[in-house]
Amino acid sequence: MIRITATPFIVNKRVPLRISRGVSAASENILVELSVPSDGNNGNDLITGIGEIVPLSVGGVKLGAAELVGQVGKAETIFRNSGAQWSPFDIIANLNSLRSAGIASSVLAAIDTALHDWLGKYVEMPLWQMWGFSLSMIPQTTFTIGIGTPEEGIERIEKWREVAEPPLLKVKLGNPEGIVHDKALLTAIREYLPEVPVMVDANCGWNVSDAVEMCKWLADQRVLYVEQPLPVNLDGALFELRQQSPLPIFVDESCHTASDVARLAPVIDGINIKLMKCGGLLEARNMIATARAHGLAVMVGCYSDTILANSAMAQLTPLVDYVDLDSHLNLVDDPFYGAGLEAGRIVPTAGHGIGVVKNGA
Ligand SMILES: [Mg+2]
Repeated sequence: MIRITATPFIVNKRVPLRISRGVSAASENILVELSVPSDGNNGNDLITGIGEIVPLSVGGVKLGAAELVGQVGKAETIFRNSGAQWSPFDIIANLNSLRSAGIASSVLAAIDTALHDWLGKYVEMPLWQMWGFSLSMIPQTTFTIGIGTPEEGIERIEKWREVAEPPLLKVKLGNPEGIVHDKALLTAIREYLPEVPVMVDANCGWNVSDAVEMCKWLADQRVLYVEQPLPVNLDGALFELRQQSPLPIFVDESCHTASDVARLAPVIDGINIKLMKCGGLLEARNMIATARAHGLAVMVGCYSDTILANSAMAQLTPLVDYVDLDSHLNLVDDPFYGAGLEAGRIVPTAGHGIGVVKNGA
């Protein structure tokens, strides 16, 4: 018999992160543990797969921990009610049944992760190896610099240096006080670390004319690409922006699942995939395949994910161009141990499944 538990916990950031929508200093995430006997049915030999829920805002609505825990309970009921044929091996069918019951994407992500973790532990292999990937193909991760004054930007770089030398920087722009502040922050960072590659994320913070001006200006600053320059309700203006932008345009908030990739493909250059947004590793792989079929670049990102969710996503990074999985590196109290930071790359362990254990376990 399957058993799924949900345990909320709070993690705190070393440095609060400010983006165009606001500031976050802490996050209430949820550990999901899915236990099933190794014969998938009634045996005594339990295997436990784990996953993480990280709350995200979708269309301005953020579900609270109580609602998310309730949805985990609903998922358990759906699995239990599906009868004797239910199997932890049927990952696709299991996720389809939850999706059609309206389970939130972050809850889907945690259960998808737990099912994949369970399978990896069952076959006694890390997922990346099960999937035939080579760890040597993993790109370096970006380190994120939030919105702030030029002095705060430099200070943040120095804080990152206490963790490791930043291999690439992702700078948050879309300052609500205007693009003059965006330019000041980016100029300071460019002068301070002229050799480090920089990408920019505006988090929906610009209108079309600001976006056109900034894309031209940022190209002169040798920025690699711009992520989500426009709000989601201006997707229709992406064609016009891209005609005028010398820089590649990536989408994040506008692109949740593979169907969004297909819809937006003609007017973008790349996508940002996040586990909580798309609903797990299975859909992330669909998105990668869809993006590649349309000739798009692929990056993966995170919210306030601990090393648990970031280690799950790291399993897929041999397939992508850009990695932005730095959130756990900015936590003071991550309850888990998982993927390591090696020469600027987030590298999964050789542990089975997603290779994550509780700290001290
Ligand atoms: Mg983004």
